[in-house]
Amino acid sequence: MNSNGRNGAGFTRREMIGAASLAAVGTAIMSASSSGSQQPPYQTGKNPGEHEPLPDFKYDLDSSKGWEGEGGSAKEVTGEEFPVSQSIAGVSMRLKPGGIRELHWHAIAAEWAFVIAGKLRTTVINPNGQDSAATDDFEPGDIWYFPKGFGHSIQNIGHEESHFVLGFDNGHFSEFGTFSITDWVAHTPLNVLERNLNLSSDVISKLPKKEAYIVPGKIPPSNPQPYRANDLQPSQSAHKYRLGEQRAIEFPGGRDRVVTIKEFPINNTLTSVLQEINPGGIRELHWHPNADEWQFYLSGRSRVTIFGAHGRARTEEFGPGQVCFVQQGFGHYVEQLGSEPTKLVILFNSPVFEEISISRWLSANPTSLIADNLGISDAEVARLPKNVLGFIK
Ligand code: MN
Ligand code: MN
Repeated sequence: MNSNGRNGAGFTRREMIGAASLAAVGTAIMSASSSGSQQPPYQTGKNPGEHEPLPDFKYDLDSSKGWEGEGGSAKEVTGEEFPVSQSIAGVSMRLKPGGIRELHWHAIAAEWAFVIAGKLRTTVINPNGQDSAATDDFEPGDIWYFPKGFGHSIQNIGHEESHFVLGFDNGHFSEFGTFSITDWVAHTPLNVLERNLNLSSDVISKLPKKEAYIVPGKIPPSNPQPYRANDLQPSQSAHKYRLGEQRAIEFPGGRDRVVTIKEFPINNTLTSVLQEINPGGIRELHWHPNADEWQFYLSGRSRVTIFGAHGRARTEEFGPGQVCFVQQGFGHYVEQLGSEPTKLVILFNSPVFEEISISRWLSANPTSLIADNLGISDAEVARLPKNVLGFIK
């Protein structure tokens, strides 16, 4: 090494490491292209080879195997199946008419849901003083939020199969590892249950021997029956929000419905967005400084490209039932494909919504700076957009 850090051949150590790993990346690119992959090569920027390739950010949730029973089915995606998604886990659940997702709670995560099809009724108990509870009915476009640890249940109260997507504010959470009432009583001694539940040993011996998870049930009357106890007050903090009924923020190429802690106070860990992109539209280049973004596609097709710095960019195509995950701060945009509009529901792991779009960022700087930075003339800078484009037509 000489005094400027270069060795005899004129390479810095960093460049040599880069060259060695670039050779390895080159091999990887060659094998990817020989297998017919359309992935663009990554790591072509500065210090190539010094950074891991962008992780997989697509998961085909509705095509996964999941759990199936007489009362319904559930498919889940956690950090286990989808390592990039450390902050959010999700479940695609279907209940048959009358089917019940049994009484349970989640020790390490709050539960959010978006109803896609059918009619559902939830029950939830509030822990403060154990003197209030809520029963709410949900239709497509509605969301619910149950804080971490609140005991709840879900039932399909309609005559058709219901479908909803659940989101949890912890990627390590598993829907199949929650705290269910049947699992608990199956693992509690008879003499304790006799005293705590006031049931005879004969009746207790008929209780489920293991976790039931989803059970078949009768479609209940449309007016909810009263609580068993008559001294409970209704919960004063709404667990339900009609996101689909909220007025949209309109842009030339699509629209957004955004609900944060401001509109939905109990929802203190997440922001949710219902988004539609018109055929041919582009959700413009942007990023979110404060949160990861978890997307679940409802209808239509789109292509998402994520920019991960260090010369890394990667594109994947998405359709109904698929999940996309964008890490906090990573640049991204969405190109709508085909003639059917794209509809998706999005979760951010922050109750406050933050976004910076490329159009607004460029407009928040003086002309001469942008001209010098991009190497273009003042007249060309004048053509750049000045306002947020949101969704480009
Ligand atoms: Mn739950
Ligand atoms: Mn985004």
